[in-house]
Amino acid sequence: MSNGTENTGAEAGNVEAGAIRLPAVHLLLSDPACAELIAEYGRVQTLETARLLLAELRSLMLASRRDGAAMQAAPDIPAVLTQLRERLRANNRSPLRPVFNLTGTVLHTNLGRALLPDAAVQAVTEALRWPMNLEWDIETGKRGDRDNLIEELLLELTGAEAATIVNNNAAAVLLMLNTIAQGKEVIVSRGELVEIGGAFRIPDIMTRAGAVLREVGSTNRTHLKDYAEAAGPQTALMMKVHCSNYAITGFTKSVELPELAPLAKKAGVPLAVDLGSGTLVDLEQYGLPHETTVRETIAGGADLVTFSGDKLLGGPQCGIIVGRADLIAQIKKNPLKRALRVGKLTLAALEPVLALYRAPDLLPERLTTLRLLTRPASAMHALAQEIAPLMQAALGAQYQVQSEAMMSQIGSGALPVDQLPSYGLVIRANVDKAAGKNAGQRTSNPLGALEQRLRALPVPVIGRVAQDALWLDLRCLDEHQRQRFIDQLALLRA
Ligand SMILES: *Cc1c(COP(=O)(O)O)cnc(C)c1O
Repeated sequence: MSNGTENTGAEAGNVEAGAIRLPAVHLLLSDPACAELIAEYGRVQTLETARLLLAELRSLMLASRRDGAAMQAAPDIPAVLTQLRERLRANNRSPLRPVFNLTGTVLHTNLGRALLPDAAVQAVTEALRWPMNLEWDIETGKRGDRDNLIEELLLELTGAEAATIVNNNAAAVLLMLNTIAQGKEVIVSRGELVEIGGAFRIPDIMTRAGAVLREVGSTNRTHLKDYAEAAGPQTALMMKVHCSNYAITGFTKSVELPELAPLAKKAGVPLAVDLGSGTLVDLEQYGLPHETTVRETIAGGADLVTFSGDKLLGGPQCGIIVGRADLIAQIKKNPLKRALRVGKLTLAALEPVLALYRAPDLLPERLTTLRLLTRPASAMHALAQEIAPLMQAALGAQYQVQSEAMMSQIGSGALPVDQLPSYGLVIRANVDKAAGKNAGQRTSNPLGALEQRLRALPVPVIGRVAQDALWLDLRCLDEHQRQRFIDQLALLRA
């Protein structure tokens, strides 16, 4: 076995680099303790990583010698193997990891939005392991259409004539605009030119779809006559966009569907609504604020409605378009549909989620998103009472941990103004003690340091910093995650 320069000191098993003697790589790999690493990570990767590690150790030692530091003994085989094990483990840890979402935002876009119910998890697992009739009609034995797997359910739940599904709601809007309005004008109120986080802006999507935005009205007030005056032979579509993440209040006027739909009809153009959050049931029945449902939007006269699968609907990331059969048929023929289509995992997850809506009375138990949103403040209060002393013990006297009332948000642009009463931990730095002990600490940032310690846990804990405190809202700390959360608090003590 040739290991280049490292294999020259065969007798001693060590290599001379001046006086630096590191274990030779072949001795490292043939050590019995390395067998388990090779079994787990493979010989090629283990060898590569060992070479890199030895090279790094060598240059570190050379550098410290140049700096005139005291001569260190080179690490022996067990010491290098320990480092090698750590290095391999770190290199192989997935960058996509579970976290505790204690931000108080239930549908947090940066944390992956909706969590799915077990029925969906099982369906996805099966779809991962098995060939599925994704585009195969089992009854006729002929080629099918993947949209058919969920279309019937969607029609039942929304009252629409037809449905299609794409990668996300941004894609749904893009596809809809490109199909219906390429090269023509789309009339939109200036009060609805929304920007959603992550660079989704109605004017930009419009340009990319090849449509021409025709803005009407003003930021706070748009009247029916504004739409009427803008309509002409160049118009392809009238569109309303849900003000997902903001509210315009005060002296305002917008034109609602029952008024706008007849005008669109008279102008001979379809009326589209980008609803953002796809709410399929009246949330008021669960004690939540009302959010316009897809069914209400269709009944109100919309010809096409677009919405997300992973916001209030509580399903996987996807974009759904429902509406008039002739328009959906046009949309499905657009070659962009092929580029934006969803895979079998999305459909596998979406179908059981939609099916849950057939039993609306059981939805708060079964649909994870709704369960979290309707979780009573008393449940979070009890959790906070239990966890606060444990967190206090873990953090020590430098911090003060309290159980306090706070407000959660739905998130992902749903009902931005409405907040849900919750409970959690509020952690403040005990500045007095720190400053008294050591004046130098006054410039440090104890909350930032705490945030970092929480992020460094095996399952990182994500909260939010506001008003000189770290807020950990316990709404999304589910009962089955409680013990795991408590167990890893011990690691904070270090
Ligand atoms: C969230 C949202 C979008 C984007 O949906 P994604 O599923 O994130 O692509 C588009 N329009 C509105 C009104 C939204 O609220």
